[in-house]
Amino acid sequence: MKHERRVLSGIQPSGSATLGNYVGALKFWVDDQDTSDCLYCIVDLHALTVDQDPASLREQTLQLAALLLAVGIDPNRSTLFLQSQVPHHAELSWIMECVATYGELSRMTQFKDKGKGSSTVRASLFTYPALMAADILLYRATHVPVGDDQKQHLELTRNLATRFNNRYGETFVIPEPEIPKVGARVMDLQDPTRKMSKSSKSDAGNIYLTDTKDAVAKKVQRAVTDTENKVYFDPNNPGKAGVNNLLSIFSALKDEEPNEIAARYSGYGHLKSDLTEVINETLTPIRTMIEELRNDDRHLIELLHNGAEKAAVASRDTLRRAKSAMGLIPWSDGS
Ligand code: ATP
Ligand code: MG
Repeated sequence: MKHERRVLSGIQPSGSATLGNYVGALKFWVDDQDTSDCLYCIVDLHALTVDQDPASLREQTLQLAALLLAVGIDPNRSTLFLQSQVPHHAELSWIMECVATYGELSRMTQFKDKGKGSSTVRASLFTYPALMAADILLYRATHVPVGDDQKQHLELTRNLATRFNNRYGETFVIPEPEIPKVGARVMDLQDPTRKMSKSSKSDAGNIYLTDTKDAVAKKVQRAVTDTENKVYFDPNNPGKAGVNNLLSIFSALKDEEPNEIAARYSGYGHLKSDLTEVINETLTPIRTMIEELRNDDRHLIELLHNGAEKAAVASRDTLRRAKSAMGLIPWSDGS
């Protein structure tokens, strides 16, 4: 290991990546490459927890790989790979399901939100956090940069690793969550009580990283605010949720305090037009780069294969140790 810090994080190819994904996670993925050993995983198995059209899943996966490269993930410095190409994830996931309890998985709010109590939701949506724990623990990650919506899953990962270590002997590293101070939960522009989600069908509420300049302008102009027409930041006031969200996005992209930004504006119109510019400054180079990368999908696929090979080597030993600690008999080659 070159660095003390080892970072692992994942993103689902469940739709087109949003500005929420960028300011809550991807921005930090890029920066972490200077200070850490980084593994970034396109978690395609997680995407299967809800129905995906096979052709769309394939397309979204390649598009997401191109997007990650376009935002600045460097495959020479980081390991960028597809979860489904490293079988260790599915294998350790089963072991994590044997460590987790039904009660603790039942308490996961994301399952309750996405499952909405329906008995026809896929069983994998319920066990998803065990797979997420496996993703992280396999690589002995010390730090996991995620948006605030993943805090509870991270806490579960820590609990499972600790329980495993206590029961079967020191095997896993207990990872630290890294949740940004601003932009940790970007909200839907049309319904600021809901987080922006790439799998939600809220086209007007989501800003996609591949949106055109005009689309960004339209969405920001139409973003829900309130009738007060006074720009100030008050995260504890639900009546200001829309404006708070716009200021948080501005703040995350410009590294400036929301209050300082708010002080420059006397009405929503100017705030919205300046925010549009700030967002487009970030998105335009990303969009151009994605288009270039998508001209050569074979190259993208090859790059992902190389990543998966590196990831398989990096995770082999921890899986072997976990299995053996539980009493499973290894193959003669030690795996
Ligand atoms: P899905 O709707 O399929 O769950 P998603 O938009 O929630 O998609 P994920 O792939 O689940 O995206 O998560 C990728 C990363 O983006 C995670 O670190 C997650 O915490 C972060 N993230 C997701 N949505 C937001 C958001 N609205 N604000 C900030 N961070 C977010
Ligand atoms: Mg999500």
